[in-house]
Amino acid sequence: MADHEFEERFVSAEFTQQDNDIETSLRPRVMSEYIGQEKVKENLEIYIQAARQRGESLDHVLLYGPPGLGKTTLAGIIANEMNVNLRITSGPAIEKQGDLAALLTNLAEGDVLFIDEIHRLNRSVEEVLYPAMEDNALDIIIGKGPSARSIRLDLPKFTLVGATTRAGQLSAPLRDRFGIVEHLQMYTPEELSQIVTRSAGILNIDIERYGALEIAARSRGTPRIANRLLKRARDFAEVMGDGIITEETASLALSKMEIDNLGLDAVDRRLLTTMIRGYNGGPVGLETIAAAIGEEAVTIEDVYEPYLMQIGFLSRTPRGRMVTPAVYEHLGLTPPAAKGNAQQQSLF
Ligand code: ADP
Repeated sequence: MADHEFEERFVSAEFTQQDNDIETSLRPRVMSEYIGQEKVKENLEIYIQAARQRGESLDHVLLYGPPGLGKTTLAGIIANEMNVNLRITSGPAIEKQGDLAALLTNLAEGDVLFIDEIHRLNRSVEEVLYPAMEDNALDIIIGKGPSARSIRLDLPKFTLVGATTRAGQLSAPLRDRFGIVEHLQMYTPEELSQIVTRSAGILNIDIERYGALEIAARSRGTPRIANRLLKRARDFAEVMGDGIITEETASLALSKMEIDNLGLDAVDRRLLTTMIRGYNGGPVGLETIAAAIGEEAVTIEDVYEPYLMQIGFLSRTPRGRMVTPAVYEHLGLTPPAAKGNAQQQSLF
């Protein structure tokens, strides 16, 4: 297996086919099982209860935050608590206006339509959404040229749940049509360890508290990664130990996967060392970093940067990205100021 595939498999927060089997069983179905995100949960619970009391569908919801934080899961919980069906699609999957029209006309009253990566909808498809979200109507153009006319079809009332990694990428008219906008935050190690313990229970994995904490601390604030690392740690525990995930087995498994004590993987380290060695720690433009490490700029922005910024390793400036002094210490490199001092000292 190439290094690159190895990296992608273990540390990317993006959904992969391998996640499919476990994600379904591990996904919380009710709000009380959804760990963390207290503020978001509290707000949504009130909106859901109010909508139910009025016998209405829930207002449209926009969820934003990095991949793997639980946006799809929340959409499912909303549908479940509103007692309606959930239809799942994604921005890139809806290519033509007709695709969206077909989805909308097939909804039942009150259904939740979840559109992942909603910022990737093309503009003409987006225009179909506006009257649908605002007036529950679908405007269809019949015919071409001067004889073309528009007819309006009624749609069932529905709730659109849109998910995006970056709210800023959404067009203003679309963003304004969401009545509820919630920002998902990265999870604390304590919350992640609860998620790991819950998942271990469902998957019948024996795990000790410090084993769970060890995995949690290295999961980049992301439940999807925590669940993935849990599965890999189980493999190591079963083959190299007695099947129980202790702090030691978790730590061994993680170091075999080249995930360090902060959860940084080989790609993170390559990104940071490239910035330091090639560009003196920055400022350096995103596209330049992307080309230098052979990753796509969007992947760096959506998957790698949020965590590096969260732990204070990376900052964004108008002139580009910069690493912080903490990075030098973590990677065991000499920071530039100290280098200067050393040179000065050697001069005298
Ligand atoms: P997103 O849609 O933001 O990419 P998902 O909703 O698919 O993320 O979540 C990925 C996985 O992480 C889910 O299958 C679920 O098992 C787990 N997960 C996410 N959020 C939570 C949470 N708050 N509590 C427990 N598990 C969670």
